[in-house]
Amino acid sequence: MIIGVVEHDRDKISDLSLQMLTLGNLLAEQLSVPLHALLIGEAGAALARTLGSSGVSVVHIAKNDRLDEYAPQAWAQCVVELVSTTSPEIVLAAGTDRGHEVMAHVAARTDLPLATNCTQVQPGESFEVTRLRWGGSLLEEAQLSGAVKLLTVAPHAIAAQEVPVAAEPGVDMFSPGLADDDFRVRVAGRIEPDRSKISLGDAKVVVGGGRGVGSAEGFEILEEIASMLGGTVGCSRAVTSLGWRPHSDQVGQTGTRIAPDVYIACGISGAIQHMVGCKSAKCLVAINKDPEAPIVAQADYAIIGDLKQVLPALRDAIRNAQNGS
Ligand SMILES: Cc1cc2nc3c(=O)[nH]c(=O)nc-3n(C[C@H](O)[C@H](O)[C@H](O)COP(=O)(O)OP(=O)(O)OC[C@H]3O[C@@H](n4cnc5c(N)ncnc54)[C@H](O)[C@@H]3O)c2cc1C
Repeated sequence: MIIGVVEHDRDKISDLSLQMLTLGNLLAEQLSVPLHALLIGEAGAALARTLGSSGVSVVHIAKNDRLDEYAPQAWAQCVVELVSTTSPEIVLAAGTDRGHEVMAHVAARTDLPLATNCTQVQPGESFEVTRLRWGGSLLEEAQLSGAVKLLTVAPHAIAAQEVPVAAEPGVDMFSPGLADDDFRVRVAGRIEPDRSKISLGDAKVVVGGGRGVGSAEGFEILEEIASMLGGTVGCSRAVTSLGWRPHSDQVGQTGTRIAPDVYIACGISGAIQHMVGCKSAKCLVAINKDPEAPIVAQADYAIIGDLKQVLPALRDAIRNAQNGS
């Protein structure tokens, strides 16, 4: 049997989990075993029926009052218990922040090896897997052994497909034994994104700021320039780590992947984890005081200078151009 750990949040199954189940279904056919799914929390019960169209024959639902919000160790314990009672060949999760976090806990608790971000899986005595590494800039071929193969599926490596003949899956409710310690990390509250702002993922112009901006207040002029150009502001992880901007503004491997017409990167060095998030920008303009900064070599245009001088000059030049003077 193969178990797919399905992520759901506020009555919606994650698209990346549906992609994961598509790979799960292919593997289930290859190995002639059934595909099961695990939904965590009773809210999952309402979604169980829909998984028939992904080829799932049985949905296991982990029931506990405290599972109404995401809690990585508690989710991992649910997976561990299901593995111990059903002995699957493979456990899959989507290659998301949550999928990786939960499966890392599962691997640690079961002492099983885990292969993350797989794009291809070839079953055998040990599995041959192809994995995305370094934010997608390198493919690794690896062998995965272990009594139960633990895998996460790289986002968008496979398109989600519905099975031609969907049958309603059976439902198995179980109550995992969870301790207080399993809830040490859990979602305690949510900060909703400001929907009046243009979203980073959709913006045609992004003005990104890095550590070189110098402070949270330093972003005011980036906001001004972004708004003049009908765009939005992004930032590097150094900036979110410093608390200058929220994580929802972060561009990169562990932030948002952007694809604007123009990305103006201000005081950002160009670390690989940042660049994978902006590699789809059609035009990259770097502003940096260091001509040797890695981002300068990758930029379409580079302005070498101090942001304190360059940004006011840029703002004035845009204003003059927009006023036709
Ligand atoms: C697992 C992992 C995931 C990560 N994910 C991400 C991610 O999603 N996104 C991300 O951005 N990073 C990510 N990082 C962090 C990444 O490696 C870098 O540390 C980070 O991108 C650096 O941010 P920065 O360019 O703002 O800062 P720095 O590297 O410190 O660069 C600052 C730049 O500003 C320039 N500068 C300084 N002052 C001025 C000035 N007055 N005028 C003009 N230029 C100036 C400097 O010359 C320098 O080039 C990740 C790291 C790891 C290990």
